[in-house]
Amino acid sequence: MQTFDSDSFQQRLDAIQSRIHVAAERANRDPAEVQLVTVTKTFPPEAVQVAIQCGCSVLGENRVQEALAKAPLCSSADWHLIGRLQRNKIRHALSLFSTLHSVDSIPLLEDLARIQEETGNRPQILLEVNVAAQPTKIGFTPTAVREAFHVIQDLGCLQVVGLMTVPPWTPDPEASRCHFTALRNLRDSLEQEFSIGLPELSMGMSCDFEVAIECGASFVRVGTALMGKRTAYKPQPKSLDTDDFI
Ligand SMILES: *Cc1c(COP(=O)(O)O)cnc(C)c1O
Repeated sequence: MQTFDSDSFQQRLDAIQSRIHVAAERANRDPAEVQLVTVTKTFPPEAVQVAIQCGCSVLGENRVQEALAKAPLCSSADWHLIGRLQRNKIRHALSLFSTLHSVDSIPLLEDLARIQEETGNRPQILLEVNVAAQPTKIGFTPTAVREAFHVIQDLGCLQVVGLMTVPPWTPDPEASRCHFTALRNLRDSLEQEFSIGLPELSMGMSCDFEVAIECGASFVRVGTALMGKRTAYKPQPKSLDTDDFI
C-alpha cells in the first residue's frame, strides 16, 4: 500500500480549501458557511491520522463498523456517517457519530427517536433525498420526505437539521446543478410548510463540490480529491451490503 505523505496531503487540502473559497465567493456566500467533510472510507487509520493532523476535523465514513474500528486509533475528530444506517446498528452509530447524513426511512427515524432517548446521544440528522428519483438509489422521494416531516413533528425529539443528496454519477459537474437546486428548493419549501429551520444541505463530492456550493451546500463530502483513489472499495448491491470491516 502507498504511504500517506503529509506534505502532499497538505497541498491537496490547501488546493481544495481555496477552491471552496473561490466557489463560495462566486456565489456571494461566506466561505465559513461551507464545512468540508473529508471522506476517509476505506483508508487505514494511519492515513486518517495524517488528514486529522493536517487540519481535517470533520470526517465522513459510510460504514458504522469500519469507523468504530478506526476511531480509537486516531486523534479525536468529529465523525459523520454518510452511508446508509441499518436499524440494528443505531446504538453503535450513536456511540461515535455526531451527525447522520443519510437517514432514509420513517422506521429508522422512529428507532432513532427511541434509542437516542435511551443512550442520551442526540445526533444531528439529515434526511437523504433521492431528488433525481433514480430507481436504484436510496433516500426519500420528495413526496415521502414531507410525510417524514409529519412524523418528525409528532416524535418531537429529533434534531433534524437538513437534507442530503447524492445525484446520479456523471463526469460533468454541471449535470448535477439541477439536482442540487432541486434539493435547495425542497428545503426552502419544507421550512415554509413546517415552520422549521433546516440550515444544512449536504451535497457535492470530489467532482462537483464547487457547483454544490454555488447552489447552497453547507457540507461538501470530498473523498478522492483529498485522500486519493480508493482501492479496497467495491460498491455492493444493496442486498449484499454487510458492513464488514475493511
Ligand atoms: C464516498 C462518498 C463520497 C466521496 O466521494 P468522492 O467522489 O470520492 O469525493 C461522498 N458522499 C458519499 C455519500 C459517499 O459514499
